[in-house]
Amino acid sequence: MSKETTQSKWDSVKRYKLKKMLNELSKISGHGTELVTVYIPPRRPIFDVISQLRDEAGTASNIKSDLTRTHVQDALSRTIEYLKLYKTTPENGLVIFCGALSTGKGLGTEKIEIFPVIPPKPVQIQLYRCDDHFWIDHIKDMLKDDRVIAILALDTQEAGLGVLTGDRWEAIDDLTSGVAGKHRQGGQSARRFERLRENDLNEFYHRVADRAQTIFVDQYKVKGIIVGGPGPTKENFLREEYLDYRLQNNVISTLDTSYSGEEGVREIVDKINDQGIMSEYRLMEEKKLVKRFMSEVHSESGLGIYGLMDIVKALQSGAVDLVIVTDDVSVVRITTTCKKCGYSSEKFIDKSKVFAEKQEIISDPCKSCQGLDYETTEQDIVDYLEELTTMTGSRIEVISGKTEEGMQLSSLGKIGAILRFRTKNITS
Ligand SMILES: [Zn+2]
Repeated sequence: MSKETTQSKWDSVKRYKLKKMLNELSKISGHGTELVTVYIPPRRPIFDVISQLRDEAGTASNIKSDLTRTHVQDALSRTIEYLKLYKTTPENGLVIFCGALSTGKGLGTEKIEIFPVIPPKPVQIQLYRCDDHFWIDHIKDMLKDDRVIAILALDTQEAGLGVLTGDRWEAIDDLTSGVAGKHRQGGQSARRFERLRENDLNEFYHRVADRAQTIFVDQYKVKGIIVGGPGPTKENFLREEYLDYRLQNNVISTLDTSYSGEEGVREIVDKINDQGIMSEYRLMEEKKLVKRFMSEVHSESGLGIYGLMDIVKALQSGAVDLVIVTDDVSVVRITTTCKKCGYSSEKFIDKSKVFAEKQEIISDPCKSCQGLDYETTEQDIVDYLEELTTMTGSRIEVISGKTEEGMQLSSLGKIGAILRFRTKNITS
């Protein structure tokens, strides 16, 4: 598997999982100031965090409300207990949410629950909070797109080259053309002046393209490029295809700016943020994925398949290149294992029916030994599919279910796959 595919898979699946968790956490509110949030940056030793939390537990003994005090102290000791599982701080640090959550049976019946998150990016802050809600904002920031994007701000006089990574941008280089303005000096023939100017511009554009290749392709391995600048120069430059094909084929957007050079790069960054260009870009990518999938479905190739069970089978046989799932998929995989004889089975059902289905499953005698003692597990379908893709070296992309393309996939059951090769044993 190439580095690139690992990266993109990591992106959308991690994003989906984190989003889902944050969505659940954001709905939780504490009875009092009793929900604990801990952000641990990569280099902070675990024992240091534990000793801080012990101090906090000591301070908490002053809380007047019996219920709140118990809740805070229980949450803290649960967090400490959990932290002891770590010998060292994980590479990206650690974020923990812990608190007494309502069981729906009234005050005093709350249950302490812990939600540890190994973040997708290094934790940047050190934070402890005990509040009536969980502090999720910092980890929300980690959901932002952080692929590296090239920025080129160009006119006939100057070219600014910069890169954008998430919120951070950097101007890398600035080239000047030395090309004369549009108006010739007296004594020169108009035609000769134009020709010389064209030659100089051509040379300048080649220089810009060479620099762009060195910086954007070789050094930064950017995912795409945004080209801006005043006037029509940028359009001419793109039309004449001076850029390396890896950039030329990945132009995300062109933008009008007042300046070229470094000032132009800054202007482009502002516009990218104002106009939501990066999320549009993500949608464009999703559109491409679904289009490719739909054209395989409609072609004779037999490489585009849908239907969960067929996809699972194809994954298990290593035939899948890419799985696409919409983020509103609500399927859960339930496995049941007989405690007596070990006979196990699996079932895929809609999230809303999990409770009823489970009741049914456990009241049904074991097919092998007629026993009635089961162990059951529940797993989100995306987690399961990710496991299967990891085992077989294929890719999985989670896309928005709200776009037109997402809805196309939704109508086919929210999950689709493109095969590497046609398989005979798949019945669809
Ligand atoms: Zn059994």
